Amino acid sequence: MTDCLFCKIVSGDVPAKVVRSSDRALAFRDINPQAPTHVLVIPKDHHPTVGELAAADAELLAEVLREAHEVAADEGIAGTGYRVVFNTGAQAGQTVFHVHAHVLGGRGLNWPPG
Ligand code: 5GP
Repeated sequence: MTDCLFCKIVSGDVPAKVVRSSDRALAFRDINPQAPTHVLVIPKDHHPTVGELAAADAELLAEVLREAHEVAADEGIAGTGYRVVFNTGAQAGQTVFHVHAHVLGGRGLNWPPG
């Protein structure tokens, strides 16, 4: 999708600090980190939300989740704990409509979230 920020990160037209890349998923550091580890994991194909991705390509959603766990392992937080968040829709805080898993950790995380 030509007008999508995260598609431009996939194509290399917008730079990002990439931490992992698989056949169909890409992980890169959030530009405005909310925790010591804050990495976004996206499918390389464009799907707006996690619900639409789940309906269109459940195996690709599984790959995004596997990569999220690998990011946590690489960052050394798989054992201590981390959070995977899909903000879905504007009221939930989604601002980029190319589905992305936030992988957050490296500090205590409060519940419920704000
Ligand atoms: P959302 O609010 O849609 O759940 O999350 C979008 C995330 O993308 C935000 O945490 C925001 O900081 C991050 N973000 C926005 N623009 C860029 C960018 O150009 N590069 C990177 N690496 N992250 C971005």
